[in-house]
Amino acid sequence: MHRFDFAAMLLSPATWFVFAFGSLFGSFFNVCIYRIPRGIFWKKSRSHCPACDAPIPSWHNIPILSWLFLRGKAACCGSKISVQYPLVELGTALLWVVIYWSYPFLMQLDGSLVYDNNELLRFAHALVFCSVLLICSVIDLEHQIIPDVLSLPMIALAPLVAWFHPELNLKSSLIGVAMGGGIFYAIAWIYFLVRKQYGLGLGDVKLLAAIGGWLGYQSVITTMLWASVFGSLVGISAILITRKKDLQLKIPFGPFLSGASVTYLLFGRYFGDYLFPF
Ligand SMILES: [Zn+2]
Repeated sequence: MHRFDFAAMLLSPATWFVFAFGSLFGSFFNVCIYRIPRGIFWKKSRSHCPACDAPIPSWHNIPILSWLFLRGKAACCGSKISVQYPLVELGTALLWVVIYWSYPFLMQLDGSLVYDNNELLRFAHALVFCSVLLICSVIDLEHQIIPDVLSLPMIALAPLVAWFHPELNLKSSLIGVAMGGGIFYAIAWIYFLVRKQYGLGLGDVKLLAAIGGWLGYQSVITTMLWASVFGSLVGISAILITRKKDLQLKIPFGPFLSGASVTYLLFGRYFGDYLFPF
């Protein structure tokens, strides 16, 4: 890890390059978030207004900026454009910058350009992991599902990822899949036996298996712990505020699992080695 100079990194062209690409990919993630749960991902169609079906000119599709200068209203019919679109674009861009700053594979150091191959591998790994989890989280918030087309390929690719990643090893990854999938499956099963209803979706089980596979088994307990703590806090607050008892079941768990595992990956090393052992 090189010394981190915040001002230099903020002014670095690489940071703004990553930000711009992040916002463009965020725009694509919006398409994924809209299309995957509706089962129309591969359907060919040009960008069109969901309210009046008019085609959207490309200069109205510039990430973040278009929503701002259109003031959140479609130019064709004046219908409201959800704030979710610029938020996903901005969120992806900022997330990518944080990932680049965590693994600065290309850096200007004392006047010379330094390239680090292992940092590039860590960067690519975190970029794919965090991006897929971001898409899963927004879909889970909207539809209360985590699509198999996202979680299952993550699980299947875990051994390959472990092969390329400088720290993660195959054993840790495979135990991670078994632990993530197994523990959660057991909890879901016990809950079902006791309450005769599903408290945990199998989507959460598959997501935690993917997290275990991509971050190693050491991540599973920490991720579950923090996701449960924050999930419960939000759940209890929601019950207190709305005074509805069954609301707890309607709060999706995917965003908490994603938030906890991404925090573990990017910031775990600052909390001490025992929380980030690999
Ligand atoms: Zn329209």
